[in-house]
Amino acid sequence: MTSRRAFIQIVPIATLSGFGLQAARAQGTLDEKDPQAVALGYVADATKADKAKYPKYAAPQACANCQLYGGKAGDATGPCPLFGGKQVAAKGWCSAYAKKAA
Ligand code: SF4
Repeated sequence: MTSRRAFIQIVPIATLSGFGLQAARAQGTLDEKDPQAVALGYVADATKADKAKYPKYAAPQACANCQLYGGKAGDATGPCPLFGGKQVAAKGWCSAYAKKAA
């Protein structure tokens, strides 16, 4: 019985995450001019982050080493849940950056 219950619990999660993945793929690439991107200071090249406005930025911060980044190591882009799953550049950065736990 326990395994059946576990199965019932797992199926909706698997379905949802599969859907989430498809939705993320359908989102396209985040544009720096997207209003939310502008609001959070997103740049596709982290070295171009507005250091006057965001003094917390420091190299080597980048999407690739941010906790929210959904791409794999070596990918040029990956989905970011903060921007509705749109693709952000691995070398990008925004002010919501949070260092990925080692
Ligand atoms: Fe990049 Fe992280 Fe900002 Fe998403 S939250 S755009 S992964 S720095």
